[in-house]
This record gives sequence, structure tokens and C-alpha cells, in this order.
Amino acid sequence: MRVRFWGTRGSIPTPGRHTLRYGGNTICVEIRTDAGQRLILDGGTGLRGLGRALIQEGHPLDIDILISHTHWDHTQGIPFFAPMTRPENRITIYATSGTDKDATEVFARQMDYANFPVPLDERQGQVEFREIGEEEFNIGEIRVQSCFVNHTILTLGYRICCGNVCAVYVTDHEPFAPSLYRSDVADPDLDDIVHAGDRKHVKFLADADLVIHDAQFTAEELVHRRDWGHSSLEYAVEVCVAARAKQLAFIHHDPDRSDEELDRLEAAGQAYARQLGADLKVFAAAEGMEIELSETGEALATSSATYPVSLEARRHSRILVVDDEPAMVQYLTMVLTRDGYEVLQAMNGYEALALVREQPPDLVLLDVMMPEMDGFQVLRELRASEEFRDLPVIILTALAGEQDIVRGFEGGVTDYIDKPITPAVLRARVRRWLLSRDSR
Ligand SMILES: [Zn+2]
Ligand SMILES: [Zn+2]
Repeated sequence: MRVRFWGTRGSIPTPGRHTLRYGGNTICVEIRTDAGQRLILDGGTGLRGLGRALIQEGHPLDIDILISHTHWDHTQGIPFFAPMTRPENRITIYATSGTDKDATEVFARQMDYANFPVPLDERQGQVEFREIGEEEFNIGEIRVQSCFVNHTILTLGYRICCGNVCAVYVTDHEPFAPSLYRSDVADPDLDDIVHAGDRKHVKFLADADLVIHDAQFTAEELVHRRDWGHSSLEYAVEVCVAARAKQLAFIHHDPDRSDEELDRLEAAGQAYARQLGADLKVFAAAEGMEIELSETGEALATSSATYPVSLEARRHSRILVVDDEPAMVQYLTMVLTRDGYEVLQAMNGYEALALVREQPPDLVLLDVMMPEMDGFQVLRELRASEEFRDLPVIILTALAGEQDIVRGFEGGVTDYIDKPITPAVLRARVRRWLLSRDSR
């Protein structure tokens, strides 16, 4: 398997003399198997150069593009992807839309006449969109596993395996908790990861030959950029070490990062891996860089676990909001109704339990600190009943310490969101649990 970086930048293209070596194009990665099958990860502005190279190979082309999410920096190259202009070419774009519009509509809007001269439906090539969630599927000889990550809109990470070699692509993703491991355990392992979301993330990277991971920030910078939906380099190293991955190519470079700064970050990442006692190769992904991963040996056994995903669930879902602060209830209701959900409101635990039975919701957003009956008591009641054992319950709290989070997950919490809550994070996390309830 060969991996080539056509774009490595996050947020916005940054051409210029400060970005000559690592590149200014936004994110796009090409994977090619030894047998010649190709797969494209994301369609940032780097996709334009890749499209031109593919055209040189002759026709017809059969191209599969996996999109992590629909933010500009991951899709801006798509209207400029030259193979789309030839009728003999077949292009399949896999994506999760993240809004109440389906993926086809989201991309059609990108190429609306107001934004671009040739609308999507006037393209000559055969373009097909496949809306996906968290699942496993084959594209030719390549086995693909997709997994929701933690961003400001619904976003998928991809695990790409061929033969016995696996590369994992995860961008844009923010750590679920401020620290990966519990601080009260001396020699922590997988079970000592604080947040269930981070544990699942590590499992997704397990034993990868190459992890291509978001590291837009350093740990120090991330403190001031919580809820922006990105990782620190330190976190990327930690999860790769925990997952026993062999190589980490960090990517989604901040637009303000110069080549010299990326050199320094690369050295810091390597030093941190050594400090953790790991034999992990760490490097900054650079535009034009190619990596060979040997496909020799027996094919890896793939897990047959698939998670039922209901894409319809993003519409018409009913959400119960429970908080004793009227302003918070109002705020949550405003954000969620704007997304088309039906919202039920409860100001205390008793009201919440009564409403759950009267009008069963698809998801509950639950405050912890409430008079009389707190959020954890409500959760215990719900989990004790057969009917609501698997109902997604997201805890909203300003007070979640490490111990609380660990105890909460043991008690059946589906997810935690820290207060103050930004609308983007709320929307992304709610949608994530509505789409894939059984995967916790
Ligand atoms: Zn991005
Ligand atoms: Zn993004």
C-alpha cells in the first residue's frame, strides 16, 4: 500500500514562502494498493492536483472518495476535480452529511450557480453519493471501517486495510476528556482511559501500520481552543502509543504554522514518543510525501462487528432536555429546534421520569446538579428499566472531574458534554448518538 499526501493543511489554503516544504493545500490523501486500486481521503484543495495526475493515467477512471466531513477544508477541491468532467469516469463519494440535508444536497449546494459556474447535475462524469455512518464495508480489495470522531460537525474517521496492512485516517478530532488516562493509576492501560469515547478511539487505531492524525495544536494551545474540534500533537502521540501503532503522520497543520515551526513540532513529537518509551515513528505529513507500507503476509482477520445506523434518525427525533436552569433549557431548545428536532422540557428529575414514560424520547440531555433528584438518580432509574436501558443519555455538566466521568460511564452514561456548551458541539454530539445508538 502506498500513501501520498496531496494536501496537509487545515482550515484554509496557505500558499507562500513559509509553507513551501509542508505545503499550503488543504487536506487530501491518496491510498493505492499494490494491485493498483486507489482510494482518496478527503477533497481539500489538494484534490485538484491529484485529479490532474489521474487524468494523465487515461480513461475510464473508477474513483472512490471517502469524505471525513463537509467543512470547506475537506471538500473545496471537489468542484475542481477534473475526472468529474468526463462522461466515462465513475466517481463515488462516501460521506456523512452532519445536517438535516442529505450528502447529495450538501455537495450540490457547494456547486450552486451562485458559488460555481457548473452545477453538480451538469457534470459529465457519473457521480454518485453514498451516505454512510459508522460501519464496515469493502471497496474492491480494500476493507473500510468508519467511526464517528469528536468534531464540531458529524465527522468520520476511516480505517483502511488491505492484506495485512492498515492505515487509519482521523481528522478533525478533539480529545473527549482533558487527559487520556486516570491520574490515580500508576501504569495505566486501556481500561484506565477516562472517557469511553477516547477508549473507543484508541481501539479504532489498534496496531495500525500508519495513523494519519489531526494535530492542529499543541497541548498548551488546546487549553484555549477547547470545542474547536481538534487534537494536540501530544494527544495524537498518546493515542498512537496506547494503540501500539507503528507510525504517526500528523496532519491538518494550522494555517499559521510555518515550515520551521512544523520542524520543531516534529522533533517535539518524536521526543514525546521516546519519553513514553514507545517505538513510534512520528513525522509531520508534507505535501508530495509518499509512504510505502508492505502488504506482504497473511491478511488480517477483520472484525465482523457492524453497528446499525439509522440515517433517518437525524430527522423527526424527539429529545428530552432536563435542567433546573430555565435559561439553559431555553438555550438547548433553541439550538435543537433549529435542527428540526422535537424538544421536550423538564425542570427536575421527577418531571423528566414522568415525561420519559409518557412520550418516550430518542435521546436525553441531562443536567447533574438539580435539587431533590439529581441527574445520576434519574439515570439510575432509567437504566433499571428494560425499556430505557439503551436510551442515549448525555450528561451536561460543568463539574465533571476525572472520577465523576469514570463513575458516570460505569453507571451507564452514554456521553458527557462540558458546560459551557457551544451550539456546534451540542449539534454534533446529539446527531452522533441519534445515528448510532448501539455502538457505545
Ligand atoms: Zn478541517
Ligand atoms: Zn472540520
